[in-house]
Amino acid sequence: MQTQAYAVHSATTPFAPYSIERREPGPKDVAIDILYCGVCHSDLHTARGEWPGVQFPCVPGHEIIGKVRTLGSQVSRFKPGQIVGVGCMVDSCRTCAQCKDGLEQYCDGPVGFTGTYNGAMGGGPNTYGGYSAAITVDEHFVLDISHAEKDLAGAAPLLCAGITTWSPLRHWGASPGKKVGIVGIGGLGHMGVKLSNALGAHTVAFTTSAAKVADAKALGADDVVVSKDADQMARHANSFDMILNTVAAPHNLDAFTSLLKRDGTMALVGAPPSPHPSPAVFNLVLKRRSIAGSLIGGIPETQEMLDFCAKHGITSDIEMIRIQDIETAYARMLKNDVKYRFVIDMASLKNG
Ligand code: NAP
Ligand code: ZN
Ligand code: ZN
Repeated sequence: MQTQAYAVHSATTPFAPYSIERREPGPKDVAIDILYCGVCHSDLHTARGEWPGVQFPCVPGHEIIGKVRTLGSQVSRFKPGQIVGVGCMVDSCRTCAQCKDGLEQYCDGPVGFTGTYNGAMGGGPNTYGGYSAAITVDEHFVLDISHAEKDLAGAAPLLCAGITTWSPLRHWGASPGKKVGIVGIGGLGHMGVKLSNALGAHTVAFTTSAAKVADAKALGADDVVVSKDADQMARHANSFDMILNTVAAPHNLDAFTSLLKRDGTMALVGAPPSPHPSPAVFNLVLKRRSIAGSLIGGIPETQEMLDFCAKHGITSDIEMIRIQDIETAYARMLKNDVKYRFVIDMASLKNG
């Protein structure tokens, strides 16, 4: 089925209308009309060719909220007209230990998981994401959405920004009595603050943007630190159980590892195109601190997060845009000027 989309044809050309082919639903597929799609910094890293292995044409978008149009003959979990979500993955091997554990993002199969756009991690055919009118997805990778209709656009970013912060927060035990830092108050970071706060942890936001201090408090931070201010940073030395670092650019990690208490962990989720300066070993060994990484989240934990957010009335703070404004949105994202996630109203695709 021919489907309207927006694509880039190289790392240096702007987005333009493009027609893609979507498969007719097979027995286990769900065909979805896309209502909203969030704009992740990973979309920008990919569309601008900043990460290795980008396939063009590239249709990004992995924070999808849509409405079920048709279902394959063997799908019983969904019904036509139902509101559903699709996140960063559309397939995995389903048989390896990681997939059996519900952590499909770490799939050990021959090509790893298949991204909603840019194909499988280990190569293979390209896939096209949510900057499009419709998508066909195996039911295993389709999520139930129980947010109210008025909250659907704000729920879209939960599919990446939400789960990418939820998964490490849960894994490293964000909960009452724990002190958690969130570094970078962008799309991921603002969700990290909301979720850490909702999980009951004492939450401290770190930002390079002094203008975001009041917002970060309103998002749920108990304290906000402007990370360029050495005195403000020093007040938190040796005190964090966990720091979640969402920054999209290389920076000095030591400034944050020195804030971890003994056995504390800084989990990196930000994925800059070039490496961070090497961390100082003494900073780690003297307090048995760790630097770790975390990738999006598995399908069961994504559903758990969506249900938690629906129950607690949690959505992303969004700025709705037309697809025609995507270049402006990317330019603003590069200036840390997003409050706090752009979401594309896919109805705008009809305007060409
Ligand atoms: P974003 O909305 O652009 O937010 C990133 C934030 O990082 C900025 O708002 C800014 O916050 C801070 N920042 C940017 N440049 C900085 C610099 N040079 N030094 C210090 N802080 C800086 O991006 P996002 O969508 O949240 O994504 C963040 C990163 O996570 C990207 O690299 C993305 O690809 C990656 N990501 C990873 C996963 C995963 O599974 N691991 C999933 C999704 C996204 P302040 O203004 O508050 O300083
Ligand atoms: Zn993303
Ligand atoms: Zn697998």
